[in-house]
Amino acid sequence: MNIAIFGGGVAGLTAAIHLLDKGYSVTVYEKRSVLGGKVSVWKDSDGDSIESGLHVVFGGYKELQSILKHIGAEDAILWKDLALVYAEKNGKQTSFEKQKGLPSPLAELLGGLKTNVITWRDKLSLIRGLLPLLLFGNEDYFRSQDDITYSDWHARRGITENALQRLWRPISLALNFIEPNVISARPMITIFNYFGRNYEDARFGFFKANPNDSMIEPMRQYILKKGGVIENNARLKEFALNEAGEIQYALLAEGRRIEADAYISALPVHSFKKVIPKAWLKYDYFKNLFHFVGSPVANCQLWFDRKITETDNLMFSHGTTFATFADVSIAATDDYQAGQGTATGGSVLNLVLAPAHHLMELPNDVIVEQVMNELKTLFPKAKDATLLKSTIVKIPESVYKAVPGVDKFRPDQRSPIANFFLCGDYTYQKYLASMEGAALSGRAVAEKLSAKLPKHRQVELLS
Ligand SMILES: Cc1cc2nc3c(=O)[nH]c(=O)nc-3n(C[C@H](O)[C@H](O)[C@H](O)COP(=O)(O)OP(=O)(O)OC[C@H]3O[C@@H](n4cnc5c(N)ncnc54)[C@H](O)[C@@H]3O)c2cc1C
Repeated sequence: MNIAIFGGGVAGLTAAIHLLDKGYSVTVYEKRSVLGGKVSVWKDSDGDSIESGLHVVFGGYKELQSILKHIGAEDAILWKDLALVYAEKNGKQTSFEKQKGLPSPLAELLGGLKTNVITWRDKLSLIRGLLPLLLFGNEDYFRSQDDITYSDWHARRGITENALQRLWRPISLALNFIEPNVISARPMITIFNYFGRNYEDARFGFFKANPNDSMIEPMRQYILKKGGVIENNARLKEFALNEAGEIQYALLAEGRRIEADAYISALPVHSFKKVIPKAWLKYDYFKNLFHFVGSPVANCQLWFDRKITETDNLMFSHGTTFATFADVSIAATDDYQAGQGTATGGSVLNLVLAPAHHLMELPNDVIVEQVMNELKTLFPKAKDATLLKSTIVKIPESVYKAVPGVDKFRPDQRSPIANFFLCGDYTYQKYLASMEGAALSGRAVAEKLSAKLPKHRQVELLS
């Protein structure tokens, strides 16, 4: 049975891996010349890795870790100490760490009390507001909180505005690239649950090299080894339907017809909306997808001639153009090192700029100047350092905005159309739009497809 998968991001590639394992014939059609989608990385003319966005892995990403192990890439991740590190002015840093050796939620409470990111009043309000969540929160409760913004949830719990601005605003911007008064409470409290429940689940991990070399390329190799086919520069243009409204064939932009036994969209939701056949819009399943809108975000990379920080972890910052960032010359050990491209052994900062709606049309050199001025206030060593190179990648529609009320529209991987399935980070699974969510959706679509269209169906029917 031939399966055509459109989209070569984490969702499409993991779907391909699971379907190949189940014995299906699989072809992945990806519109770009590189795989990976929002995790994609490419080399520029200097030999530097340009990332679509800084990506970190949580310890709780069990599905992603399991697939990496399955394809022989389990060593891809470098785990860091558990801490939320906040960069402050003049080289100071404050962190929100768990107290090691204690059970949760005592570890978070005592650790939180020691932090100097916020005042004692903020800390007491946090304990009062978050303790019930840490003790009794569950998946049903998280989903039930999707009708209010995080700011409202925070205020209803009596937690202070200072704690919101200093601690959680950078987290909201890092998570979904939108403000706490825009993001739904659901994704935020899901993240608190990570930090509040299990030490291992809350740790950040970095790809040893970059997301492509450490994850996407091993996925590609596995797919090819299993007999799968990957076609790049192959953009899905439209589906042609038969009389029953099912897909007769898919048409690529180059004019080629693709015929398969089943078709999977692993496109981002904004791209999929462009190719949904009009006849399918009579189904709420497809119509509801128009509730999803992508978040704009930009990623800035800066190469310095010397180290401007020693921090080996993800960092957050307050009141800057960038919400979260890392020195990948320290956090990743197999890329960005002296002699690789522009790197000379100095810092290579990878910064996620959010909110970014106003940056989309701003010239890159103006953005870099703004980021550099802010960095100099945070890291005094940046004042003496020479900036060797800067790059900016802008993504006008990245992950969908997790605003209140949208969660209920996330579609199941099985569609009302017999030979058509969906996957992607926005489809229904327990995580937010993330690499883990995309990988979970890839597994789910393979399981649902094989339950509906078993590989040996015809043989069984004949016998
Ligand atoms: C700046 C940034 C930072 C992030 N940081 C993190 C992080 O730290 N941790 C984390 O877990 N997640 C992070 N994410 C989110 C994560 O990258 C995504 O949730 C995940 O990669 C989405 O995977 P996907 O396969 O669902 O979609 P995508 O990655 O969007 O893949 C879809 C693919 O479909 C292709 N495509 C589109 N249209 C067509 C067409 N017509 N025909 C064929 N192919 C098509 C695209 O080119 C793309 O390759 C970040 C995202 C960004 C943008």
